[in-house]
Amino acid sequence: MFGTGLLKGLGVTLKHTLETFSDDRSKVPDRYRDSIELGNNRRIINQPIDQEGLLTIQYPEEKRQLPEHFRYIPMLIWDTDKNEDRCTACGICAKVCPPQCIWIVRDSDANGKPVTRPAEFYIDAAVCMSCSFCVEFCPFDAIKMNHDYELAVFDRYPQLVYDMEELTVPLEYYAALWPTQYGEEQEKRRKDEEEKKAQEEAKARAAEAKAAAAAAAPAASSGEGKLSKAEELKRKAQERAAAKAAANSDTDSGTSVAAASSGDADADAKKARMEELKRIAQERARQRKAEAGE
Ligand code: SF4
Ligand code: SF4
Repeated sequence: MFGTGLLKGLGVTLKHTLETFSDDRSKVPDRYRDSIELGNNRRIINQPIDQEGLLTIQYPEEKRQLPEHFRYIPMLIWDTDKNEDRCTACGICAKVCPPQCIWIVRDSDANGKPVTRPAEFYIDAAVCMSCSFCVEFCPFDAIKMNHDYELAVFDRYPQLVYDMEELTVPLEYYAALWPTQYGEEQEKRRKDEEEKKAQEEAKARAAEAKAAAAAAAPAASSGEGKLSKAEELKRKAQERAAAKAAANSDTDSGTSVAAASSGDADADAKKARMEELKRIAQERARQRKAEAGE
């Protein structure tokens, strides 16, 4: 029928009006249930999901409580446990940032050697498109998305270019804004640390076992080696001694044969000489006897 949709829409509006009116008339309106009082008539409103009615948030005194995954401009995390920036100035966030609104200058030590911390870190909030790529790619959980959206300024430059001091927040601030994510990260860190510790212990045990095996094996092998080498040397010495002895015996026998043969020859010569001398002596005796007329 003509006009049915129009009547339906007017009915919905009337329903919301009545619900809003009845909520406004109650002592504590539904929309203020679970709200956080900030004092000075300021409060954070956590509007229930089943809230009926058309409610106006009286901004800026009243603000809606933001969902955890609300994101605006990145913030840098100061690790209050370690008392240092989590950022290592690796530059990954600057590389992946689609509009290229991150500038990082790495710090250096007294000798000019680069160190793993930023000296300067800038984000141009006027360019940042709140994509959260920098957060997703950061390997150190050093950059997170802030909920602070009240960034109105009179001059875009340099007031919307945030430096490191303006970007840095303590870990507790992040934990309060992102309680679920923070809890999950802490749990993951704890597990990673336990795993790392277990791996290190296993590695240390394996190294100890390897060292013990290495200490035992050379002793055994060197003992065997020494033994076999000693035996080998002994055997060689014996062989050399035997060879020498044989050579000596050969030499001795040769010498003795030669000596014997030469000795025999000498004896024969001597005997022959003696015989000759004897003959000569007999001959002279006969001559002397003949001369004497005997
Ligand atoms: S915020 Fe993360 S990704 Fe960016 S430079 Fe620091 S450590 Fe690297
Ligand atoms: S949120 Fe996106 S645009 Fe903004 S600094 Fe990070 S990567 Fe760049």
